[in-house]
Amino acid sequence: MRSKLFPLLSFRTHIAVVFGGLVIVLAGALTFALGKMLTAQIQRDQGGALNVVANNASKMLADGLFDRSREVQVLTESAAVWARGLDSAEVAQNLARSQAMRPNSLWIGVADAEGVVRSATGGLLLGQNVKARPWFAAGIQRNFVGDVHEAKLLASLLPRPNPNKPPRFVDFSAPIRVGSKVVGVLGIHGSWDWARDVVESLHPANAKALRMEVFIFDRSGAVIHAPDGKTSELAAAGMRLPLDTSPSSGNDNHAQPASVIQWQDGKDYLTASTKLKALSVASDLGWTIVVREPVEIAFAESRTAMVQAMGIGLLAAGFASLLAWFAAGRISGHLSAIATAAHDVESGRPGASIPLLESSSEVLSLATALNRMTRRLITLNEQMEDKVKLRTQELEAANRELDRQSRSDHLTGVLNRRGFEAQLKIALSSARRRNSPISVIMVDLDHFKMVNETHGHDAGDQVIRHLSDTLRQRVRDSDIVARMGGEEFVVMLPDTDAKGAQILAEELVKVVASRQAPVAGKVTISAGVSELNMKLEDLAEMLKGADEALYVAKRSGRNQAILHDASALASMA
Ligand code: GH3
Ligand code: MG
Ligand code: MG
Repeated sequence: MRSKLFPLLSFRTHIAVVFGGLVIVLAGALTFALGKMLTAQIQRDQGGALNVVANNASKMLADGLFDRSREVQVLTESAAVWARGLDSAEVAQNLARSQAMRPNSLWIGVADAEGVVRSATGGLLLGQNVKARPWFAAGIQRNFVGDVHEAKLLASLLPRPNPNKPPRFVDFSAPIRVGSKVVGVLGIHGSWDWARDVVESLHPANAKALRMEVFIFDRSGAVIHAPDGKTSELAAAGMRLPLDTSPSSGNDNHAQPASVIQWQDGKDYLTASTKLKALSVASDLGWTIVVREPVEIAFAESRTAMVQAMGIGLLAAGFASLLAWFAAGRISGHLSAIATAAHDVESGRPGASIPLLESSSEVLSLATALNRMTRRLITLNEQMEDKVKLRTQELEAANRELDRQSRSDHLTGVLNRRGFEAQLKIALSSARRRNSPISVIMVDLDHFKMVNETHGHDAGDQVIRHLSDTLRQRVRDSDIVARMGGEEFVVMLPDTDAKGAQILAEELVKVVASRQAPVAGKVTISAGVSELNMKLEDLAEMLKGADEALYVAKRSGRNQAILHDASALASMA
């Protein structure tokens, strides 16, 4: 029945472990809930901050694209400028002024309807044909804003801060009309560094610490701006927009709520994104601005809070265990006391009983029940012991009676042969110790067969009883009379020698002959007398002498006592 989990722990340890475990589970659940709550809140708050950056970047980039596009349009629509020809000094002045106002405009130039550059800032590309360039091809048709691309013709002509990185442009162009005729195209190559400047201007002060990063992806999902000048590196590595921003997936023109997304580097980031909110059809390049922050930084606060909460939970668990341990101590102590008392009762210590302890109702009821049970068991045990004692005494008495019966003769009440032999052994050992003699007289009724034949067996019995009584009356209390079988008796005489025995034997012969036996009247006995030879061990051998003397008495006429005489017997034989 012993549980394997808690091998023989004390009651109070069990309680302490259970309480501690409960509090730990509770603290774990609370910490988990708290973590979820904090994470959700942080995702809302921090995600909101990321969204603000994304929205502002989107707005500023859209504004910038729209401004340039409009600037180009306004310039192309100033008919007065173009009136004197595309390569006039007026045109050159206007282009130079325009560039001076926007240092980001790396090249401003005008190509004629055939695509030959007729005027340009810094005189770059003058006379070259740009018909194949997208800005010209589109710009001759309509107001055009071109997506980011690397410089082609200008790559070697412009000063480059980093020789390994060709400059990147955003193109703006529009057709030049004089009257209703398109005479050429005005184009601006704006430096893409502009986007970097816009994004960096929006970074909050702690952006570095938060490792907040802004990316711009083009309509196809390719990266066109990444922080720290890593754009070409990441683009080459195949970085793609990590979100699904297709129109079907949600609100095309609205910011999406920030969420945790796994990027291509395999790490999780809290990510906010928004689509470029273009202000004109021409300037709508379909960009997506994405702001991200590593989760381990974004949710660092909630992790710290969870660790603290779990720490407090563990402390509380330890405290709860300790409290439970102390609280259970009283009950535990009382149970131990009851167990000790039960041991005392078991070992039979006088006055031991189960104490009625009251640390709880269960303990009291257990103690009361045990107390009653032990008292009842003790009483039952005492009664049982008394009964056993009584039965033992009765049994001993019965045994004694049985023993006595087995040693005595049922007809006369004197000892039988077995009883006589037992008594003879006792008397012999006593006599040997005291070196005193023992004699025996063998007695046999004369012609007893005739008594039976004449008067019947019952009368014979009465005669036997009469002889037994006569013998007992005539001997001392220390002498022993026994019936050896039939009508033959023996009388044992301790401290008596052959002479004394012979005198008593003759007296017994005389007394029997002188008394009237019932029914039969006068009967006589013959007696053989012998002093026992103490040197012999065998009882039959010792009694043999008396037997032989009795035989002699019968042969020499009966109604007489004969002392055993070894020499006389020898002469008779
Ligand atoms: P003797 O003088 O030589 O002893 O002759 P006896 O007739 O007494 O011969 P014996 O001793 O051989 O016979 C004993 C008889 O005693 C034999 C038997 O019938 C009888 N007898 C033995 N035991 C009892 C008894 O318990 N009751 C009665 N009524 N008779 C017994
Ligand atoms: Mg006989
Ligand atoms: Mg006889």
